[in-house]
Amino acid sequence: MVGIDSAALWILEQSKNEKGMEPLKNFISKGRLREIESTMPPMTGPAWPTIYTGKQPSVHGVPDFFYMKRDYTPDIAFFDSDSCRPFWDELAESGCKCLLITPAMQTRIDNTPNVEMITGFPLRSKANTKELEQMMQKHDFFGEPDIEKFMKSGRMTIEKGSKMFAQSVAKRASIAKEMMERHDYDFVYVCFTETDRLQHATLNNPKCKEYLLPIYREIFSFVGYAMRRAEKEGAALIIISDHGAQPVKSKFLINTFLIDSGYAVFKDSVQKDLKGQKKGSSKMPLRYVLREKLLTTRLRKVYDSMPYGLKKHVYNLSASFFSKISSEDYSHIHLYDLDMKKTRAFAAISNLDVGTIWINDGRFTSGVVGKEEKQRLKNEIIKKLRQVKSREGDKLFANVIDAKKYYGNTGKFIPADIFAEGKKGYTIDVKYFSLKSMFMKPELFKSGDHTRMGIFGEYNGSIYIAKGGGLASIAPAILKYYASKGR
Ligand SMILES: [Zn+2]
Repeated sequence: MVGIDSAALWILEQSKNEKGMEPLKNFISKGRLREIESTMPPMTGPAWPTIYTGKQPSVHGVPDFFYMKRDYTPDIAFFDSDSCRPFWDELAESGCKCLLITPAMQTRIDNTPNVEMITGFPLRSKANTKELEQMMQKHDFFGEPDIEKFMKSGRMTIEKGSKMFAQSVAKRASIAKEMMERHDYDFVYVCFTETDRLQHATLNNPKCKEYLLPIYREIFSFVGYAMRRAEKEGAALIIISDHGAQPVKSKFLINTFLIDSGYAVFKDSVQKDLKGQKKGSSKMPLRYVLREKLLTTRLRKVYDSMPYGLKKHVYNLSASFFSKISSEDYSHIHLYDLDMKKTRAFAAISNLDVGTIWINDGRFTSGVVGKEEKQRLKNEIIKKLRQVKSREGDKLFANVIDAKKYYGNTGKFIPADIFAEGKKGYTIDVKYFSLKSMFMKPELFKSGDHTRMGIFGEYNGSIYIAKGGGLASIAPAILKYYASKGR
C-alpha cells in the first residue's frame, strides 16, 4: 500500500505522459485508478485514521488536526491507535509481518508484535526497532522536512523546497526498498506527505507542474518498484490518497460573513478599535492592524487586561514605526476577539474547501443558544449560506450540510454543527476579517487546497471497494483480501 497525501485524479491524469512518469501510465493502463470520497472535512487529520480503522471521525475521535474545547480554544487532536486500532494490528496479530514507513497521523510507536514502523507526519519520525533506527541514520531521514516556514517567509524558493521534498521522498523509498529486500513482509505500507505540502503552495502557480513533477517522479519510481515486486510475488498493490486537491482562486471569509449577519459579535474593546477608522474608508483601522502586528499570543493576555486608555497610548507610540500597515485591508480574527455572551455561531478550525461552524450552545462555557433554539438557528444559517453568491454571481457553496447527520451523537469531541463546502476554486477561510469584502486573494500556502475526492488505485490483486464506498471501506476490503488468502 502506497499513500500519497492529497493526490488527486486530475493531477495524476495530467502527469501520466510526462517523462519519468511511466510507472503511473503503466499502473493506469494495467490496473484500476478511480476517485474515492474523503471524510468531512476532507482533511489529513481525520482521513488517514479513517483509512486505517475503517471508522468515521465520530468513532476514531480525530475531527481535524484540532478539536474544539469547551472554552473555545482549539487543541491538537491525536489519533489514538490503542483505542481505535488500525487494520494492520489485526493482520499482525494473525501472524502477518508488517512494515510501516511513516503512516501519516500515526505519531505513536505501535508495539504490537510483528509491526515494524517509523512513525509519520505531523510529528518527528521515530522507529520502533534498532534496525529501522539505523536505516534512518544511514539514509539521513528524520521525517518530512519542516521547511514550510522558510518558503512562506521567502527565505527558501519554491524550487529549492521542491528539491528538498523530492529528496525526502527518495529517502523514504530507499529505506522501504532496503527493508523489503532484507525481510519477507506480508504487508508493507509507505506513506508520502510531501505532495500535500507543496500542492498547497503551488497549484495556482503557472509553474506548478515544474515544482510537483520531481516529487511525483520519485513516488512513482517507488510505485514502479512495488509493481514489479507485486507481479513477481503474486501480491496486490494499492495506492491511496486521503483527499483531493484543487487550485484556489479566491477565499470566502466565513467569520466576516457571520459577523456581518449578526451571528458573531466582537468584544467591545475590538469594536472600539474598529471604530477608530476614518469615515468612508474601507481600510482596517490602524489601531486594529497594529494590534495584530505587535502582539503575540503570549502578550495578548497583558494587552487584554490593559485599560483602554493605556492601549491607546501604546498604539500611538508604535504607530509611527508602522505607518505602512494602515494600508492593509485584512486582519486576523481570533475566537478571543468575539464576545461569546453575544455570539450565537462562529466558524473555526477547518480552513479548507469545507468550513466548519459551531452553534454557541450549552456545550461551551459561555453558550447562549438554548436547546429549542439551536435547530431553528442552524436551519436559518444554512439557508442564508445557500444564498451567498460567488464572485461570478452563482452560488458560492456547493453544499451546506447539517453536520449532525455526519457526527451523530459522538461523545469523542464537541462536533461542528454545519459544514459549508465552497464551489470549485474557492476555499473557506476562518482566520481573516475585512470591512471591505468577504473575499480575499489566497496567500502562498492557500494557492492550492483540498477537495472531497481522493484516489484509490488497485494493481495485480483483488482488493475491491464497492462503488460509492468512501475511505472507511478500505480497511475492511484489505482484511477481506488477507482472509481470502487464509491469513
Ligand atoms: Zn492530506
